[in-house]
Amino acid sequence: MTAKRKPKILWVCSRPISVSFTDEEFVHEGERVFATFDRFSSQILVDGSVDEANQRSSFLHEVFHAIIHWTIGSDLAQVAPGKIEELFCRSAETAWFDVLRDPRNRWFAEYLLADD
Ligand SMILES: [Zn+2]
Repeated sequence: MTAKRKPKILWVCSRPISVSFTDEEFVHEGERVFATFDRFSSQILVDGSVDEANQRSSFLHEVFHAIIHWTIGSDLAQVAPGKIEELFCRSAETAWFDVLRDPRNRWFAEYLLADD
């Protein structure tokens, strides 16, 4: 499957997030990462210099950060401060990216998004 176009806006929890693919390299807590979510400006930046699979999985990873931020973010920070959010986003990214990309699951997104 080839991407039709790179997204510029993604709606998460009924809020628009601007999405940009850049040649910028990102470092978070000393570790090279391929995308970032800025919760203050509602922006996801993706390192467009890495391969497409890493861009897509990193983009999905940041979407999980956005979902947490606008759903359980403050509660999560109180009950489980530290790296719990990052661990969740990593596991969710890995699992969902695998499920969605598996050619045996091509029916899955269509099934979930069906109107009836
Ligand atoms: Zn993260």
